[in-house]
Amino acid sequence: MSRPSLRIGQGWDLHRLVQGRPLLLGGITIPSPLGEEAHSDGDVLLHAIIDALLGALGEGDIGSHFPPSDPRWKDISSLRLLHIVKKIVHSRGYRILNMDTTIILESPKLKENKDLIRRTLSAELGIPKESITVKGKTKEKVDAVGRGEAIEALAVVLLAPEEISDSGEMWL
Ligand code: MG
Repeated sequence: MSRPSLRIGQGWDLHRLVQGRPLLLGGITIPSPLGEEAHSDGDVLLHAIIDALLGALGEGDIGSHFPPSDPRWKDISSLRLLHIVKKIVHSRGYRILNMDTTIILESPKLKENKDLIRRTLSAELGIPKESITVKGKTKEKVDAVGRGEAIEALAVVLLAPEEISDSGEMWL
């Protein structure tokens, strides 16, 4: 039997920004005149995190687990999808060690909201807030994101087998 090992995963997502939709990031609504256009609720950060978790497990991606063609997933809360994926992580014998994320958008500034996003993710994933980083960047007015027409998010996660401690040592 192969030794259990740490597993890393990365995820990326982009959504167009349109009027008349809420701007959802990490399960919270950010005050903004524009929000993500999407089949689901369009939470670009949660979609990147879900892809990172599934990628770390080698279990495909968000589209293969929750295909947009399936009416079950229309307008579904992405927090609900994250909850399902968290259960998949645990069912494979892994837990989340830490998560590093970046949200790229021109406006609004996320300074006020980063801590609430981290607390929301911490509560949902059952890991300490200190294990979650949320960074905000702009594209310096370059390309579609820079023109305010779209929003991007990136996420990297590290998973550990349940029996490995935070220091990476096997529990005896
Ligand atoms: Mg998406």
